[in-house]
Amino acid sequence: MTNQTLGLSSQLYEYLLSVSVREPEILRKLRAETSQLPMGRMQIAPEQGQFMALLVQLLGAKKTLEVGVFTGYSSLVVALALPPEGKIIACDVDERYTNIARRYWEQGGVAEKIDLHLAPALATLELLLQKGEAGTFDFAFIDADKSNYENYYERSLLLVRPGGLIAIDNVLWSGQVADPQVQDKRTQAIRSLNQKIHQDDRVTHALVPIADGLTLVLKRF
Ligand code: CA
Repeated sequence: MTNQTLGLSSQLYEYLLSVSVREPEILRKLRAETSQLPMGRMQIAPEQGQFMALLVQLLGAKKTLEVGVFTGYSSLVVALALPPEGKIIACDVDERYTNIARRYWEQGGVAEKIDLHLAPALATLELLLQKGEAGTFDFAFIDADKSNYENYYERSLLLVRPGGLIAIDNVLWSGQVADPQVQDKRTQAIRSLNQKIHQDDRVTHALVPIADGLTLVLKRF
């Protein structure tokens, strides 16, 4: 995966950052700390975070879902864009990484907006459905284990309201989705979901080539 927009020369990417990204200090600090971790490249790019904050504001979102927290950059950027009464249900299994996220949610003054479920995300999504929360979310961000992407997509599609938006990360997978030589399970899972969404008349969609590829799916009804 890549954590900067694919296919741009470094000169053009630097230019894009210089005229587009307005990254608050707390997000910059979290990005710097995360970049020191062995898995640091899993965090989203700053231009993607800012784009997601814009989407959340456009939607007037109040209740959002996050599948895959890691160290919390995406949840922090979304939480900062939500109104004071906004809520994020966040799913992850990793206590060590999400402890970093919690520290930054506290520092950013958004901890009370975020309800972290430390459990397999599929179990949390099923629980939300059992509790009757289908159709109540305005926005969902899917960025977790790729082998479950289709399961996360189907559950999220039930949980968001008509007119709600799902954003799915890493859909270009460093370009590997287009390379027929690459046949590992994760790449195949992403390809399979990309094809499924292309044919899915329940949604209106766009594959946006920002960062590692971000598919936007609008639930039609
Ligand atoms: Ca990702």
